[in-house]
Amino acid sequence: MAAGRLAAASGALTLRGRARFASWLVHDFLWLYPTLRRNCDWHGEVVTRFSTTEREVCLTIDDGPDPRDTPEMLDLLARHQARAAFFVIGEKAERHRSLCRRILAEGHRLGNHTHSHPASRWWALPGPQVHREIARGNDTIMTATGTLPLWFRPPVGMCNFSVHRATRRNGLRVIGWSATGGDGCPAAPSQIVTRIHSGLQPGAIILLHESGSSPRRVLTLARLLETLTEDGYRCVLPPESSLL
Ligand SMILES: [Zn+2]
Repeated sequence: MAAGRLAAASGALTLRGRARFASWLVHDFLWLYPTLRRNCDWHGEVVTRFSTTEREVCLTIDDGPDPRDTPEMLDLLARHQARAAFFVIGEKAERHRSLCRRILAEGHRLGNHTHSHPASRWWALPGPQVHREIARGNDTIMTATGTLPLWFRPPVGMCNFSVHRATRRNGLRVIGWSATGGDGCPAAPSQIVTRIHSGLQPGAIILLHESGSSPRRVLTLARLLETLTEDGYRCVLPPESSLL
């Protein structure tokens, strides 16, 4: 009898242990996968395209503002009558407020790209710190320009539950992308543009970066704008209602 009770107790314990292990696995999978898979929308909206009947795309440029790249990029955009969204890092925006104001004055858009861009820790950052990064990014843009951003781009495109909760609290939409040339890694501008251009469709959101250690990123934008113009594409800022 006693042996039977012991066997039943050990069976129950095993079941409880298994249930706990299974729940730990499910929790970690639900947390980690959307964090590590770029533009994953499991926990909330991630815009990657926009609806259009025209030959239009949306350029987005991350990691500025930077006095080495931003002015030249703005000149290039003006030459091509192109519009872009600049996702700026709060710490840099604090140092270069006039560049933020120039971006807006020339018809482009400013987006929040966190305050300090903690890319390597972003996936594991506790919720309150995620909120602080996003709220401070908003405050900096507000101080520099007098306007609040509407769009947020997470570092490296990683969005978990905390990111979506914090963006909702700060009145922001998460903007991902549908076309990239991998310009975060060393490659010739022509190679990056070829990657972006292959399979490009109207309504694409294109990911670019600025603020590198060489003029490579400015050259990439120059080459891309030439290619898009030759191919009949216009670079626009899509209305909120068209975002997909
Ligand atoms: Zn970035």
